Amino acid sequence: MARIIYGSELSVKLKSDMAHQVEQYTRIHRQPKLAVVLVGDDPASMSYVKGKEKACDAIGMASKTYHLDGSTTLDTLLTLIDGLNHDHTVDGILVQLPLPDHLDEQQVLSKIDPSKDVDGLTPISMGRFFANQPGFKPCTPLGIMALLKEANVTIEGKHAVVVGRSQLVGNPIAQLLLRANATVTMCHSRTVDLEEVTKTADILIVAIGKPRYIGANHVKDGAVVIDVGVNRVDGKLCGDVDFDMVEPKVSVITPVPKGVGPMTITMLLSNTLQAYRLHEGIDV
Ligand code: NAP
Repeated sequence: MARIIYGSELSVKLKSDMAHQVEQYTRIHRQPKLAVVLVGDDPASMSYVKGKEKACDAIGMASKTYHLDGSTTLDTLLTLIDGLNHDHTVDGILVQLPLPDHLDEQQVLSKIDPSKDVDGLTPISMGRFFANQPGFKPCTPLGIMALLKEANVTIEGKHAVVVGRSQLVGNPIAQLLLRANATVTMCHSRTVDLEEVTKTADILIVAIGKPRYIGANHVKDGAVVIDVGVNRVDGKLCGDVDFDMVEPKVSVITPVPKGVGPMTITMLLSNTLQAYRLHEGIDV
């Protein structure tokens, strides 16, 4: 029987700490604020944005969503971001992805002031991250590292296998694990005989977006399994790992929902609070 690590529980603890900090800061300083830019009416994006607004509210952080029409031009979007860059009451700017096809994501993200890039996805933040320089790190990998810490998982010297190589999750989590002295193997859609590789993992991180793809044959006894995937099957959420088959074999596993997902939003709050401290000159 595995130990199930709920990001939802760790998030409550971390958010309560942040709410306390916000309460202290706002006795002297202005309220921290996150600006969220949403283009179009994609239901999943709209629901993610709602979740972010609720999370901000829960810790006493202000948030404002700029909901633009799906046919918004690049110029309009860049002008909005420019305004937010210069708005001294805004600490973090988040552009909800994916954007409609006619908008170039890289061009849009590049416009965000790096000191407000709380998603850590602009080319400057990415460059700083991979160069090991101070700056904002992407939220999901930060959340995964916090979950591993919470579960007291030893990373140093372990073999970590990351399945998926996206800029959002796979690539940066591999880098963080490497920095924590794991020996890291990255897999992707062209990996030959994935099972042979994943079976050697002490720590297995899966971020591919394929419902219940990783089964019992993919994992070794006692492994630590972090399931990043969020898939909807027959109206219900599930991960990239077949939880029921894998859980009896491993030592630690995250569920979907209530696993990595809540940690991503919590790390967004944490990054926004970090941006706020920088903007307000608050030392910690
Ligand atoms: P992505 O950009 O679509 O990348 C998917 C990666 O998986 C690619 O590197 C792809 O390989 C690899 N892949 C696809 N099929 C594979 C297979 N059969 N075997 C091995 N590798 C395979 O996805 P993403 O943005 O990283 O997201 C991955 C999943 O995590 C999605 O379900 C997403 O919804 C979820 N997610 C969750 C959170 C959260 O907070 N819980 C945050 C972000 C993402 P190639 O590079 O070769 O194409």
